Amino acid sequence: MAIAAGKMGVIVVDVQGDFTTWKEGSLAVNGTDKAFVEKVQKATETLSGEGYLIFGTQDWHPADHISFYTNHPGKKAFEVIKIGERTQVLWPPHCRQGTENARVLVDNNLFMAIVKKGKDPRYDSYSGFQDDGGAKTEMDQILKRNGIQKLVIYGIATDYCVKATAIDAADAGYKVTVIEGLCKGVAPETSAKALKEMEAKGIMILKELDLQEIGR
Ligand SMILES: [Zn+2]
Repeated sequence: MAIAAGKMGVIVVDVQGDFTTWKEGSLAVNGTDKAFVEKVQKATETLSGEGYLIFGTQDWHPADHISFYTNHPGKKAFEVIKIGERTQVLWPPHCRQGTENARVLVDNNLFMAIVKKGKDPRYDSYSGFQDDGGAKTEMDQILKRNGIQKLVIYGIATDYCVKATAIDAADAGYKVTVIEGLCKGVAPETSAKALKEMEAKGIMILKELDLQEIGR
């Protein structure tokens, strides 16, 4: 068994049908074809084999979710609105609870736990740790219960849910590495900015999975 066992965890962020071109998702992110998902699958198998505990996040919205533009009469997809102090991007309806394209595409048997987020119709939740209303998910508890101190994070999308999850993980005291080559972003500019913001938080960014580098 590798040295990593029991201390190192992985969070696979939102690798769900609706975010992929492969499954013709309603909010498909560029570059998320079958080959990309297979690459994520392979990397996750490798890490699991090395003794990393695998966790996931799953966007899981009710039909009346605040992030769906269809719930805001007169608004269009990708418009940005203010809700009190919060900024909300309006998305096409996606990852509706119990639908085929809300499923996590990486082999579910690899995961110790998959944390659902965005269940509250009033708040969006890019982060796997908490929603925009500040309500915590069970992620931190589950990681702590498993003795996790270091996290490798990747998935969809670099500039939204990967960024928010990685930054909250760093803020919660985990040592975080993000694998850029196992992420895809909504837009190139915001993705580049997201990588810089994560680096500024002390998060290590690696181009590709490198077991030696992440084991340090
Ligand atoms: Zn969502």
